[in-house]
Amino acid sequence: MLDLSQFADDQTVAFGIGLRKDLAFHVDALRKERVLVLTTPQQSDLGLGLAEQLGAKAAGIFSKAVMHTPVEVTAEALAHLQSVKADCVLSAGGGSTIGLGKALALRSDLSQIALPTTYAGSECTPILGQTENGIKTTLKDPKLRPDTVLYDPELVATLPAAMTVTSALNAMAHAVEALYAQDRTPASDELALFGLKSFKDGLPKVVATPGDLAAREETQRGAWACGTVLGRVGMALHHKLCHTLGGSFDLPHAETHAIVLPHAVAYNATAVPDLLAPAAELFGHSNPALAFWYFAKSVNAPTALKSLGLKESDLDRAADLATKNPYWNPRDISLNGVRNLLQRAWSGEAPQP
Ligand code: NAD
Repeated sequence: MLDLSQFADDQTVAFGIGLRKDLAFHVDALRKERVLVLTTPQQSDLGLGLAEQLGAKAAGIFSKAVMHTPVEVTAEALAHLQSVKADCVLSAGGGSTIGLGKALALRSDLSQIALPTTYAGSECTPILGQTENGIKTTLKDPKLRPDTVLYDPELVATLPAAMTVTSALNAMAHAVEALYAQDRTPASDELALFGLKSFKDGLPKVVATPGDLAAREETQRGAWACGTVLGRVGMALHHKLCHTLGGSFDLPHAETHAIVLPHAVAYNATAVPDLLAPAAELFGHSNPALAFWYFAKSVNAPTALKSLGLKESDLDRAADLATKNPYWNPRDISLNGVRNLLQRAWSGEAPQP
């Protein structure tokens, strides 16, 4: 088992069934007294239960978190936070809810506790993407990283089967791109491979038995490792493609990552076969792109962007946008290469270099 303490990044991180019941202890440990509970509208019942459990330490509930952290929602939440005099937020949810907690931490001096309910990994990063007038900008600041992260497997056990798979592949994509990041280190490689192995071992068990809490915890350890490495090194073509498809074509976040991953790996594997070989080996394959393609198919992941509603006539514009202001990438980014990649990902063909 990987020793977590060497990677802790000034966070308190814990894993365990029923951990959410220790919330009051963690609020006291941060020396905070008034907690605003944050959720999406879909997870408001979870928020109500947590507020009830916090009793006198609960200052209120704000259940309007949405994808991509629009500044208007943050402004409304900030007004609520100030009116109830909260000194701490409890972000109970996936990347959208944790993003709102971060946006509030940016604008006020408060502590953040995260109870992740997906595998996206935002709880481990000092990164926030927020949207204003339809434009998403990303910033990095150490104060954005939640102070305490409690991984309770019962909270991911409620994820629908399809989202369990796509969210896991979203997390795995952070680890894959970390393996060939320009600023990678031996520690980031170790984290990335640990994250990939946790999902390789845990995800098939969770797909077979969604309520298997030991396997859910294994996948959460994977989410922690993949999220932590996302916060430490730069991402490349895969993330640029997914940000373009999400930002300009409104495609859903986790599903898009799940579909694009084997294709982005195929594109980059020719440039850095040695850096991707350990990942391919982990999945028992010599070709890294096919390793992720077959793994994704084995857990019933979606494989075609057209199934998400992207039109074939959008592919030229998507390729154009994804190759403008590209992130650093181990292989030169060519418009033609990216257009071909998108065509295959759109129709659901096997990945090719
Ligand atoms: P999400 O938080 O948007 O959740 C998607 C839907 O699933 C929501 O309706 C939510 O209520 C529901 N849901 C979440 N957990 C559930 C559960 N356990 N049971 C039932 N329903 C549940 O999804 P996400 O993929 O976790 O987050 C995506 C957002 O996070 C994007 O905006 C992305 O940009 C951001 N993100 C940011 C970072 C970062 O480091 N800043 C990292 C990863 C993702």
